[in-house]
Amino acid sequence: MHELAVWNASQLVTLAGPARPRVGAEMRELGIIENGAMLVRGGRIEAVGKRPEIERLVSTETEIVDAGGRVVLPGFVDAHTHPVFAGNRADEYELRAEGATYAEMAARGGGIRSTVRRTREATDQELMEAAKRYRGWFLRAGTTTIEAKSGYGLTLETELKMLRVIRQLGSEACLRYVPTFLGAHEIPDEYRGRPGEYVKLIVHEMLPRVTAERLAEYCDVFCEPDVFPEDRARAVLEAAKACGLALRVHADQFRGDYGSLLAAELEAATADHLEATTDAGLRALHEAGVQPVVLPASVYALGLTRYPPARRMIDLGMPLVLATDFNPGSSPTASMPMALSLASTHLKMTPAEAITAATINAAYSLGRGGEIGSLEPGKSADFAIHDAVDYREMAYFFGRETARAVYIAGMRMALS
Ligand SMILES: [Zn+2]
Repeated sequence: MHELAVWNASQLVTLAGPARPRVGAEMRELGIIENGAMLVRGGRIEAVGKRPEIERLVSTETEIVDAGGRVVLPGFVDAHTHPVFAGNRADEYELRAEGATYAEMAARGGGIRSTVRRTREATDQELMEAAKRYRGWFLRAGTTTIEAKSGYGLTLETELKMLRVIRQLGSEACLRYVPTFLGAHEIPDEYRGRPGEYVKLIVHEMLPRVTAERLAEYCDVFCEPDVFPEDRARAVLEAAKACGLALRVHADQFRGDYGSLLAAELEAATADHLEATTDAGLRALHEAGVQPVVLPASVYALGLTRYPPARRMIDLGMPLVLATDFNPGSSPTASMPMALSLASTHLKMTPAEAITAATINAAYSLGRGGEIGSLEPGKSADFAIHDAVDYREMAYFFGRETARAVYIAGMRMALS
């Protein structure tokens, strides 16, 4: 069986700890081993310790990976992304820089509707090619697992097309994909003025096909009063739950204590965004065991100033998750190190808290806490060697592609 020893890590950041998401002061405990090393056998972590302890276990057959005095982290788990779409919105980005507002661009048919138009027209091959480019960006940031949402098709066939592309990407074993059905991302143009009809399409046609083909593990809804208000969001989420899908909710991005209360009531796995949430929403989520997912890159990229109350979430003891929200409109970044920087600068999370939120807590939010998210014996050997000597540099020196080598299940990934 193929064996690998990683050593000469300035810090092996293990995130070892209890077999559950980390809360409160635990989020600062990274389980760091200075001059750390790790033995991997058959794609799984066999042992973790100081270099001399691991050196004793090595045979002549063992492949040696010298970390070169750098930091080794578990692969980041990005628990909220929209990584499959056609075209991009660089033109709108330029217009916004020149002073155009979101409302003006929406009136010109821009925003998410332009991405939907192009994604509908794209072939599977075109979507794959674009998504492979973004896959490289995730990997070069040190990310090894992403949650991947549909939601730019908004017809039965084009939503299935997106989910099949996600399945194909996952089967290539270059990055792990966890698929989420987001048919309720927006009301498509052809259903303007009759949103109830679109909800029926989701419930009666899309969800049964998605589940029959096992194309998704989660169902997500963009729950805001003027997109999918509470009653319509509830109809979709309840139907998804009945089909056996677990739930994630785009909640409280603009209206406070709205989607969060629904996510709590339906015991969703996560409530994501939460920029506008107050203590009532947070307490409801906490009592229901829903993990909050904060997405500071979407606040930054929209040029807004209201960041989610991450400090309050940690103080309440909530198992916080940090993700990029990679998408062509509000958060065009696949960089978890960028999210770490934003978390420390704007959310006032320590670098350690941010790393915990981007690894082990994120893994639990995707039902994979026993498999990935930390470097502990028995887990899959998903890790990255970063251009950093101290883990805090990951958040501090921002705007870099930090990963020098990335492994998934003990296999070295090509970073080109
Ligand atoms: Zn999103």
